[in-house]
Amino acid sequence: MNSVFVLGSGFSSGAGAPLTGTVLETIFHEGRVTRQLSELKSYISAFLYQGRSDWVKTSSLEEVLSRLDIIRHYKPYPHVDYNEVIYYEELLLKEFTGLLTPERTCRLEDSYRIFADIINSGDLIITFNYDLVIENLLTGSGKDFFYPDLSFVDYGALPQKRSICVRSSVNLCETASSVRIFKLHGSINMYYCPVCGQIFCFPESVTAHPVPGASGKENDIPALLKCLKCSRQDQSIQLRHFIIAPTLFKSYSLPALRSHWFTALKTLAGAEEIFFIGYSLPLADILSYQLFDFAARLANRKQSVFLVNGPGKHHQRFGQLYGDSVCDTAMTFEDWTESKKR
Ligand SMILES: [Zn+2]
Repeated sequence: MNSVFVLGSGFSSGAGAPLTGTVLETIFHEGRVTRQLSELKSYISAFLYQGRSDWVKTSSLEEVLSRLDIIRHYKPYPHVDYNEVIYYEELLLKEFTGLLTPERTCRLEDSYRIFADIINSGDLIITFNYDLVIENLLTGSGKDFFYPDLSFVDYGALPQKRSICVRSSVNLCETASSVRIFKLHGSINMYYCPVCGQIFCFPESVTAHPVPGASGKENDIPALLKCLKCSRQDQSIQLRHFIIAPTLFKSYSLPALRSHWFTALKTLAGAEEIFFIGYSLPLADILSYQLFDFAARLANRKQSVFLVNGPGKHHQRFGQLYGDSVCDTAMTFEDWTESKKR
């Protein structure tokens, strides 16, 4: 029996990734002052918060990015440089994704190793996290994984491969034993071409977030982040980070991403067991709610749904989707993995 595990930010927080609600404070932590960070904080304070800087504590990454998104979309102010708005929004995303690199999310305690044992070949992971915690966990346990519907160019086979370094743990083709991973909001090691729309996966060491308008040195972008299919000798097409920003205006225009979501929908509909781990089904993420709702309606069998979100968490929204099929374990990830120890 194949199981589906749905992972939210609570899953990765034990490995070192920030919880959604603590991202801004982590980015602007006083010990992390750099010229770019102070510039970014001053810009957002002046542009969105009338010069106040308490937004770091009282606001959220989603709110700041959504406001910048709306402004750059509607361009309501006559004297604003909108390239500057784009620059600072991307800079904020660069700081955010910089918190999620494998070096910063490598605290894989015992509970993670037990979880890796629980996952069987053929199981499926749906994750809303951009980090590579689950990938590194599977690789460390000798398990193969595969991203359905996303196509890859084997950059490792190119003569310039030294400039992007090391081995990739990502298989280029699916095997019978592969664990399928759906990264519905993107991933820090994936990039897409703005011209052909193809999504490319890179080794886990390539996670830089390109910022339009920043110098090459500031960006620290590997030279190979260009589309091999669309670039010409006289014009190179730079790839963009495949990160669906956590804003109200999410962009799902890439055809490959739409297929990825559709396969995830079919997978969820066919699942017998679904485990939600560290995932709260956030109100703001309407599309994800629709995905689970539609999949639950399509399911042609009784599904068992388990919540591993810790004690005292509201689970009414899960009840709306799955009715009495929901079993709230009220356990933390650590306690739950301990109870499953083989
Ligand atoms: Zn292209």
